[in-house]
Amino acid sequence: MPDRNNVPPDNVPGKWYIDASCIDCNLCVRSAPETFRRNDAEGRSYVHRQPVTEGEIERARAAAEECPTTAIGEERA
Ligand code: SF4
Repeated sequence: MPDRNNVPPDNVPGKWYIDASCIDCNLCVRSAPETFRRNDAEGRSYVHRQPVTEGEIERARAAAEECPTTAIGEERA
């Protein structure tokens, strides 16, 4: 389960985040590049822009389901 309390600071503020358990498999970056990006220096991915459109949110959710370490979080009201 994604850990909201263990999120590297390069994640932009908002509902979506990637916690520190990312293992750099790059799946989410391939699935939803408008939301997720690789931090090359640290070898993990982060949310560089919050998804806005329905399509962006769908792709972000699909990426979250694929993530092998369940590092991708979405806060739901
Ligand atoms: S799918 Fe998960 S483990 Fe893979 S790069 Fe994205 S956040 Fe990291």
